Amino acid sequence: MALGSVPRTDAEWRALGDEAAALLAQYLRINTTNPPGNELVAARWLAAVLRREGIDARIFEPAPGKANLYARLAGDGSARPVILLSHMDVVLASPEYWQVDPFSGVQRDGAVWGRGALDMKGEGIVQLMALLILKRANVPLKRDVILLATADEEIGAGVGAAWFVERHADLIRDAEFLINEGGTIRAGERGRVDYFGVGTTEKSPFWLDMTARGTPGHGSRPTPDNPVHRLVRALDRIAAWRTPLVVTPAVERYFRDLATIEPDSTRRRWFADIRTALRDSVVAGAITADLTYNALLRNTISITGLKASEKTNVIPPLATAVLDVRLLPGQEPAAFLAELTRVVGDSAVSFRPQGPNWPATESPVDTELFRAIEAAARVRQPGVLVTTPMLAGFTDSHYFRRLGIASYGVGVFPLTLADSRGVHGNDEHVSLEALRFGVRFLYDVMAVVAAK
Ligand SMILES: [Zn+2]
Repeated sequence: MALGSVPRTDAEWRALGDEAAALLAQYLRINTTNPPGNELVAARWLAAVLRREGIDARIFEPAPGKANLYARLAGDGSARPVILLSHMDVVLASPEYWQVDPFSGVQRDGAVWGRGALDMKGEGIVQLMALLILKRANVPLKRDVILLATADEEIGAGVGAAWFVERHADLIRDAEFLINEGGTIRAGERGRVDYFGVGTTEKSPFWLDMTARGTPGHGSRPTPDNPVHRLVRALDRIAAWRTPLVVTPAVERYFRDLATIEPDSTRRRWFADIRTALRDSVVAGAITADLTYNALLRNTISITGLKASEKTNVIPPLATAVLDVRLLPGQEPAAFLAELTRVVGDSAVSFRPQGPNWPATESPVDTELFRAIEAAARVRQPGVLVTTPMLAGFTDSHYFRRLGIASYGVGVFPLTLADSRGVHGNDEHVSLEALRFGVRFLYDVMAVVAAK
């Protein structure tokens, strides 16, 4: 591509997609498995790529080996900045289950393979490419474009986005928009896209430690209030508890959107008016049998950990469990805890939140960025559905939403449901075709929202 001009031809865009693949391969070779993360190595690599292109990056080192990277491409200041956010860390990969070395960045069968190809080094590289194309072509910008690559997303705490927002809010506070992971481009049949899903809201984690107390003793002499027995009884009540179905406005809108592309007429009718549909318990059962829909329609509890005596013949003084609770927007953690305590109905059982928690956050859809995403989607496929699925998991977006920055999960790769299983799974890879799509798609979004 000629310096100083925006790519126009398919061949030019193809070349940029291939450049993204080459950069991604290098990025994947930097092992940022968290813990420990080692994001400093990745940040230095990103900074070197940016410097080659004449973009200065600042690296913050909140702890040994840890890093957050910040770069800013200046606009004329007539509109507020837009942030491209990605995390540099990845989750553990067990090489014995992979067909390739998860940190080789190898190209095979038309795809780049490695831990992080989808979550989210691939998206991070697409963000980087958008910035590089704007810079190389000297595109006049009305907004600053900020690239932020952080640590510690995968451990849900630590010195990544939370640290950055707390210590360096001054560097981002003026931003109007943020683009992050947490969106979907659902690939359908014959190269078509079923829908573009923009993440405007996500559930909030409310992880709990649960403790049952009782009388310790020798295992040969049973006690009536063995805390392990108490814990098991309490857990049985929790496992059997069907938390109430709640239709939040965002989820209602999402189902109404899904109704427009649902081929089955019965389900189409249900989705078009989900509130009415759920009043029928048989229909409610059929809808919530889909685990994804179930998670969108209620607060959920997964019992994920158990601990009691270390020794077979010792009744311990206490037994503990951990609960992965996820709350819908509008649900107060304290109110949920009171209800859970009532369900268990045992004063010897107590709950303690594992860490900080927050009510679920939501960004508005009536924004220039949302319209830019819709436009980029519909240029590719006229009339395609652009919807706002709620994420059952969570990303770092909530830190930024709480600063008043409209933050969206924006998927850049068209993926089938099967493709997305690579996220946190084995054989994670992203196709060259998806990378080429992503680079051009995100650039189009940025050109509309940030260029003059
Ligand atoms: Zn991620």
